[in-house]
Amino acid sequence: MTPEDADLRKAIEPVICYPVETLPAPDMALYEAAREGLVKREELRVEPREAACFRVPKGHFFRIRSIEGPQVGDLNLFNTQDLSERFYSGKTRALHGTHITTGERMWSGFPYLRPMATVTHDTLNWYGIDPFGGSVHDVIGTRCDPYTHNLLTSGKQYHHCCHSNLSRAVAEELGMTPREAEAYVHDVLNVFMCTGFTRDTGQYFMKASPVRPGDYIEFFAEIDLLGALSACPGGDCSSEHSSDVAACHPLLVEVFEPREGALDGWVPPQVNRYDRSHGV
Ligand SMILES: [Zn+2]
Repeated sequence: MTPEDADLRKAIEPVICYPVETLPAPDMALYEAAREGLVKREELRVEPREAACFRVPKGHFFRIRSIEGPQVGDLNLFNTQDLSERFYSGKTRALHGTHITTGERMWSGFPYLRPMATVTHDTLNWYGIDPFGGSVHDVIGTRCDPYTHNLLTSGKQYHHCCHSNLSRAVAEELGMTPREAEAYVHDVLNVFMCTGFTRDTGQYFMKASPVRPGDYIEFFAEIDLLGALSACPGGDCSSEHSSDVAACHPLLVEVFEPREGALDGWVPPQVNRYDRSHGV
C-alpha cells in the first residue's frame, strides 16, 4: 500500500554515490603533451563479427577507430602479467557514470582497483547525453552473448555474439580452449555504442551509433595491457544484435609510442592500498 508520505519520500533530492573529487586525477596536461609526436607501432584490423587481441605496453597509447562504416566494439582489458586483474565495468560505472569519455578511466577489479587505461581523446565527446538519455561508450551493457540469446529465442544457437568472439580470440592468444577462455571474458566497455535506460520502464536501450569512419577513441595504457576487441554482430546497433542481419564493419586498433622523455614525471599506478585484512 502506498504510504501517506510517498510523495515526500520521492521528493528527496539524490546525492552522488561516489563523488570523484577525491579520486587521484590523471595528469591530462602531461598526456595531452605526450600525444604530440606519437609514433605508430602496431595496427590491427578486427573483422566484422569477429574479435582479436592486441598488446599495449604501459606508457603507450592505443586508438580504436571506425574505418569503413558505423560499427560498435566490445572491449576487454587484462593486465598482461596477471590475467586475474581485468576491467571492472561495474565500478567504472559507479565512479564515472553510465558512459565514459576523455579524462575518465577504465578501472580494474578487486583487490587491484586501479586505473588500467585513461581516455585521452574521444572524437564523439560532442555527443553528450541526447534527449532520450542516450550516450556513447557505455559501461552498462555487459556484452551480447549466446546464453541470453538462447533464453530469449527458445533455444537458438548463435556463435558470433561478442562473448563468443572474445572467447575465441582470447583462446587463440593464450593457447586455451574457448571454454577455458570464456571464464576470463568479462563485462566490456561498449566502444561507440549509443545506449541508455528508458525513463518510463528503466530498460536498457540502444540506438544507431553516431560513429562515422575516421572517429576514434584513444586511451593511455597505465599498465601493460592485453586487449581483446570484438566487432559486434549488431553493427551500429540500430536494430538487433546476436544475428547476422545487421550491416557490420571492421574496426582498427592502433598502438602508438610517445617520443623519448614525453612521459617524464609519470608514475604507473600502484595496486590498491587497502590492507586486505577485512577487519580480522
Ligand atoms: Zn556485441
